[in-house]
Amino acid sequence: RERSVKNNYKADFPLLKNSDLIYLDSAATSQKPQCVIDAVTNYYQSQNANVHRALYGLGEATTAKYEQARKHVADFINANQDEVIFTKGTTQGLNWVANGFAQSILKPGDEILISIEEHHSNLVPWQIIAKKTGAKLVYVYLTPNLEFDYDDYEAKLNSKTKIVALHHMSNVLGNILDLSKIAKLAHSFGAYLVVDGAQAAAHTEIDVQKFDCDFYAFSGHKMLGPMGIGVLFGKKNLLNQMTPVEYGGEMISEVSQQSVSFKSAPLKFEAGTQNVAGAIGLDTAINYLKQVGISNVKALDYELCKYARSRLEEIGGVSIYGEANNGIISFNLDGIHPHDVVSFLDVDKLCLRAGHHCAEPLMNYLKIPACLRASFYIYNDFSDIDTLVKSLSKIKEFFGK
Ligand code: PMP
Repeated sequence: RERSVKNNYKADFPLLKNSDLIYLDSAATSQKPQCVIDAVTNYYQSQNANVHRALYGLGEATTAKYEQARKHVADFINANQDEVIFTKGTTQGLNWVANGFAQSILKPGDEILISIEEHHSNLVPWQIIAKKTGAKLVYVYLTPNLEFDYDDYEAKLNSKTKIVALHHMSNVLGNILDLSKIAKLAHSFGAYLVVDGAQAAAHTEIDVQKFDCDFYAFSGHKMLGPMGIGVLFGKKNLLNQMTPVEYGGEMISEVSQQSVSFKSAPLKFEAGTQNVAGAIGLDTAINYLKQVGISNVKALDYELCKYARSRLEEIGGVSIYGEANNGIISFNLDGIHPHDVVSFLDVDKLCLRAGHHCAEPLMNYLKIPACLRASFYIYNDFSDIDTLVKSLSKIKEFFGK
């Protein structure tokens, strides 16, 4: 079977190209192309200096590269450069918005609206802030075919809703939300929209101006970049209003014994030495992704998911959760615990995740303790799915199912 998007992306990924591993866990973290690994290595070999401090040639060149990375990230998401903050990842970005922004606007009785599909990173920070401020955490639920229920969303918005915090793409069901529609409704009630873009950044276009979202957080490591680097976008006026959560070197304008003033955004949020190698690696990953083309990524996601779905249905005794074809399929083999299944899959060199996928409220809602997740990316092929299905059939036979 031939894919409509012809490529040999796997050859760019050293961990995969010389191994017989079948990596179907890109939703946890993507593999890295050689160019990203080289960019990080080159940084430490020939460019290493601290940014925004070192007033000599090497340091100035590194500062320029770091700021160029910020510019490229800004272009990638259609933001202004001063609206892009480098973080450790999505989790940090969302925690900063909860603590540095939401906490100051929430009053007792206000509401924070999230969905039952949120990753714990976009759930626990809101639960904690709700407890601290006396606000209420309200959930949007799903339609019978396990999609975000826009009617329920609309019904739950009201004048007490101050924050709407939602995923762009679910890490379990794989569905992608219509952020423009969501933002319009949130804003009509005076609420701010905070988006968890951890999964979406690798699979679909991000255009923060088109979405009109107020904050958007994502991680480099899920989109071919290094671990430990991420991005928080915030609208400029909101970043001016938001306070840093961490304080320290380089984010200040002036410090005296008893007082301090801060630089303006984004630098006021980047306290201490930053992950410069990470930012440069992310820049390289974005450039690689642009060359692949997000439309090709989407075409591959669709083909692989459709194929996986039909092959899984063929073997029978499989429960598949959701209907989206964006690179993620979650499922269970009926009557066999997913942790047993992944241990058997591991023997056949298949890397899949089993568990609650950091979405325990969703698992409870689906009335399952856990599930398996196959997540695909540009280096996967139909043959990976064939191997998965063969292995799953063997496991079913072994368990007498
Ligand atoms: N949200 C979603 C939907 C995710 O899939 C993840 C990563 N599993 C996160 C947030 C957290 O991202 P990170 O661990 O990179 O901070």
